[in-house]
Parts: sequence; C-alpha cells; structure tokens
Amino acid sequence: MDEIRQISDRYHFNVYRRLPVVFSRGKGSKIWDMQGRKYIDFLAGISVNSLGHNHPEVVKAIRQQAAKLIHISNIYYSEPQTRLAELLCRISGYEKVFFCNSGLEANEAAIKIARRFGAKHNKSGNIFSFTNCFHGRSISSITMGSEKYKKGFGPFPSGFGKISFNDIGDLRDKINRDSIAIFVEPVQGEGGIIPAAPEFMRELARLCRENNVLLICDEIQCGIGRTGKFFAFEHFNIRPDLVTVAKSLGGGIPIGAVITDKKIADLIEPGDHGSTFGGNPLACASSHAVLSVIQNENLTERVRVTGNYFLNALKSGLSGLPGVKEIRGIGLMLGVEMEYPCRPLVEKMLEKGFLINCTSEKTLRFLPPFIISTREIDAMLRALKMCILSMKPEPVESAAHSIY
Ligand code: PLP
Repeated sequence: MDEIRQISDRYHFNVYRRLPVVFSRGKGSKIWDMQGRKYIDFLAGISVNSLGHNHPEVVKAIRQQAAKLIHISNIYYSEPQTRLAELLCRISGYEKVFFCNSGLEANEAAIKIARRFGAKHNKSGNIFSFTNCFHGRSISSITMGSEKYKKGFGPFPSGFGKISFNDIGDLRDKINRDSIAIFVEPVQGEGGIIPAAPEFMRELARLCRENNVLLICDEIQCGIGRTGKFFAFEHFNIRPDLVTVAKSLGGGIPIGAVITDKKIADLIEPGDHGSTFGGNPLACASSHAVLSVIQNENLTERVRVTGNYFLNALKSGLSGLPGVKEIRGIGLMLGVEMEYPCRPLVEKMLEKGFLINCTSEKTLRFLPPFIISTREIDAMLRALKMCILSMKPEPVESAAHSIY
C-alpha cells in the first residue's frame, strides 16, 4: 500500500489531497483496502456508486457489452445509446438527451445551448449562477463557480453573472428580459450540502418563465434518485428547461447528459457540438442497468425512508455535541456543519473503518449508496460521536478545498 502511494505521489499531478489508503475491491456498501481491511462507504465515489460497489446487474451489463462492442464513433447509430436516451426521456418526461462524459461537459454543453438561445432572442445579458455553487472545473464552469477555484486561472470569459443563493431580493434585482439563463443546484453539494429554500426555487422558476430565461438545474450530484426523487428539483414542483446529470448516471463508468425538450435541443445542429466518447456503448449499457435497477427496485422510495432515518439519527446522535453547528440535507445527501475544519474527523473515521467526507472546509458530507442499512448508519454514528468527542475544537490548518 505504501509503495503505491509513493509511486503515485511521484508520478501523478498533485491535485488531490488524498487520504492514506489504497482500495482494491468493493461490494455493496463495503470496500476493502489492499491489506484486506474492510470499510463502510458513506461517500460512494462522491455520489457515483449509488447502487453500491459492483452491483451484479451493472457488472453483467458492462461484461456483456464489453464482449460485444466497447466503442463506436457517434457518426454511427448505437443500440445502447438509443435505448438509454429513450429510457432517460421516459423516466424524466423530457424529449431529448445529449450524452457526454462528465458533469462539467454536461454543463459546458448547456452553456453553449444557452448562448444559442440568447443569440436567437437578441439577449445581451448574463448566464447567471449562484454564490457558493459548483459546476465543474473547466474555464467556463469555474467562471460560474466560487472564487476559491479561480485563483490564477484568469482571464475568464465574459457574459456570466452571480446571484446570492437563497436570496429572493437579489434574484428579483438581477433577472430581467435580457438575462439568458440561470444555473442552479437544487441542493448545493460542494458548497456544503445546502438545499435551496422552496419559496426561492418557486420564485426562481416564476422569474425565469416571466422573463424568457432558461432555467438549468445542475443535478450532477443531487440527481438520479439521491434526494428521494429522481430529480431534486421535483421537491419544489418546478420544471427546468434543461437538466444536467453525470456522476451516478453511469454507475462508475464515465457518462454525463443534458436533458431537455425538442424546442431547446433544436437550437444546436450537426457540427455545433459533439464528443468522441460521449454516450459510448459501454457507458450507456452500464447506465441503462443503473436506471433499470433504480426503477425496478423502487430505490427512490428506499432513499426517502433511509434518508429520514439517517437525518433523524444524525440529529438525535450529534446535536449538542461540541463543535456541531447544523445538520441538514435531503434524502441520502446529508451534511453536518462543524465549527472547525473537519478533515481531521474524516481521517479519524477512516482509521475506524468508515469513509466520510468533508466539503466546504467545515461540513461533513454523507452520500452513501442507496442500499446503506440502518445498522451501518448506527455503527457509523457511534464511531463519529466518539471522534467528535475526542476532538479539541481548536482551529487546525485550514483546508481551502474539499478533498476532491
Ligand atoms: N456540478 C456539480 C453539482 C458537481 O457536484 C460536480 C462535481 O462534483 C460537477 C458539476 C462536475 O462534475 P465532473 O467532476 O464530472 O466534471
């Protein structure tokens, strides 16, 4: 294990604040390191392995597809891509899908579509995003994101603006008929598990409709069942114009997607956008299996039930402990904001055999697989309580970024 860490540190870019462990296999909610030590995974690859590690249906689909055809250029039709597009539209109620390979690529495609929309309607205003948001690490998505990810990467493209998250007044001040689009995470993930307020989301949707502004929901972390509904925006009874998804969509095989209606999809034509790997047969076969399992096993309902149990257990187990500031979240997207940087807690929990995460410096983040059991939740909470009680809540060296 030490050897792998040393070689990796020597040869790989130093872009991740890695924890000192090398994993070699996983099954369900459990994962084992190279020395055979077992851990319970409350992070699921940061909202990727939602069915747990190596779900048999996903493994079967990948195996079968790999034996038939792994890749084919998008200049040809492919059956797995076609079946997945049809399934995603059927589940979501939208009409069209564009496939790419990651979250930022989905957002980048949505930005291009929004710019086309702006040009068509003679708009010269902004594409807006919200304070504390995260939409990826391309130049345009860091332009939309928080200042901490932008340092030293300028100059940045123009045409982007910022609105305060959950601030209806700022929303009303900044949105007008010249505005082009607004990106919103219905539950901010990297920003510290912060759900949008229902009245804020409804006003956002109303203002977008009234001003002919595209509403784009970034469901990359919070979508595909994670909050107990297929999309997190469904909690607010709104319907965005475009939705971007990735992460858990592929069950671990890279895939992203933009989902929208025909009228908007038709803003771009052959040659305007594309991807070599986007929606390749292997990724689409895996994704089809993921969505089928979520549907067939009614996993969104399971997320609702387990999520409620988990949130209540967090509240009853941790409220009032030294340093615990706020407990929040929806479904299996939960956070505990601490009064001090919480990376040391993550490290202590790793020693105890639990994978949890710290984001936005002071928020413990829990994104377990949908199949996590109440026994596993109880065991994790017992360990976490001990770790919190053993902490001396003095400020430790600040971690500017989440470990990701
Ligand atoms: N949008 C949100 C809400 C995310 O949480 C992330 C990744 O954490 C992204 C976009 C970027 O996704 P990717 O890392 O696949 O580019």
